[in-house]
Amino acid sequence: MNAKEIKKLFPILDQQVNGNPLVYLDSAATSQKPIQVIEKLDDYYRRYNSNVHRGVHTLGTIATDEYEGAREKVRAFLNADEVAEIVFTRGTTTALNLVAQSYGNDHVSEGDEIVITPMEHHSNIIPWQQLAKRKGAVLKYIPLQADGTIDLVDVEKTITERTKIVSVMHVSNVLGTINPISDIAKIAHKNGAIMAVDGAQSAPHIEVDIKELGCDFFAFSGHKMGGPTGIGALYGRKELLEKMEPIDFGGEMIDFVGLHDSTWKELPWKFEGGTPIIAGAIGFGAAIDFVSDLGFNEIEQHEKELVDYSFERLADLKDLTIFGPKERAGVVTFQLGDVHPHDVATVLDAEGIAVRAGHHCAQPLMKWLNVVATARASYYVYNTKEDIDALANGLVKAKEYFGDVFS
Ligand code: PLP
Repeated sequence: MNAKEIKKLFPILDQQVNGNPLVYLDSAATSQKPIQVIEKLDDYYRRYNSNVHRGVHTLGTIATDEYEGAREKVRAFLNADEVAEIVFTRGTTTALNLVAQSYGNDHVSEGDEIVITPMEHHSNIIPWQQLAKRKGAVLKYIPLQADGTIDLVDVEKTITERTKIVSVMHVSNVLGTINPISDIAKIAHKNGAIMAVDGAQSAPHIEVDIKELGCDFFAFSGHKMGGPTGIGALYGRKELLEKMEPIDFGGEMIDFVGLHDSTWKELPWKFEGGTPIIAGAIGFGAAIDFVSDLGFNEIEQHEKELVDYSFERLADLKDLTIFGPKERAGVVTFQLGDVHPHDVATVLDAEGIAVRAGHHCAQPLMKWLNVVATARASYYVYNTKEDIDALANGLVKAKEYFGDVFS
């Protein structure tokens, strides 16, 4: 299937915005949803809406089978060994917070180190900042190269025997950088640290195999890969998860409750307190089927073509700076002369083109880039070269509109 055919499977994309056909270039924030996912959610609510893991009635059994079936899809998608290693969460943010609050609380002490990078999303900074504050630990940053990549020599220098946790994003939501996770994981392990990965921007776009990555934890979100909002997953190595304490206590996660003491269910349910995100997980499973059927060779190849074409088309625009390395995932973050990114995004919006403007939840990276904000176009399976032509034409309009700033 080519991108034009794929686009037809996303009903939302067939509309006019501000009198122009919608060109959706904000998939790094959230992707659009294919009809297969929408229908799966609809089917759940119409046919078998029920709570899971409770009672024996027929609808509850269907819901439980579908919910646990989705967990199996996540397991297979990541190439994990067991479904016990897959915890459903609200998304990447809650998955990383679970690691920081549970594993981190028990394994990080005063003077220990937590290592991250300046390119991280706030979701992979603040949980560690908070942990470091609670424990009197040191939060260290692997420095970036000028092009926004990581040099393993710096990784070797930054991670020491005091390092307990290394947490790095697989793919940057701003620069598109694809980080050498398996090499970083080896260095972490050599020093006795564990490796956590923020996979929010990799799982939707490149093949992920947690065994090849060699990581201990991998967090990602369904809504960035065609799934519903409010659902994601944490993969954790079983030996680690088994020893970790839950952080959400209440219904669903218990085995026995007494007046003064309680025990927990086995993995992974001890981490899923309360009624789970049932429809979300089932829709997430449908999204995993959708992207898996398209195939990651095709997805990666398609996004590479879009990135190459973006460089080709946008290169002609004077005063346009693109941040990040040439080798990247489908994200193009840029600055147009002195025009504020919000103004750029507003002009593009008037043309029906949706891009993101702001700090992209990466304020430390903005500081490193020496900008307050940027504009970002981010691609997915439904984007076409025509979308990039529209972006290039829209940027010419923005330049004309704010022409005086280029004089
Ligand atoms: N990490 C990265 C790299 C992201 O791009 C995002 C979302 O933009 C997140 C983490 C947070 O994901 P969520 O908001 O789904 O928890």
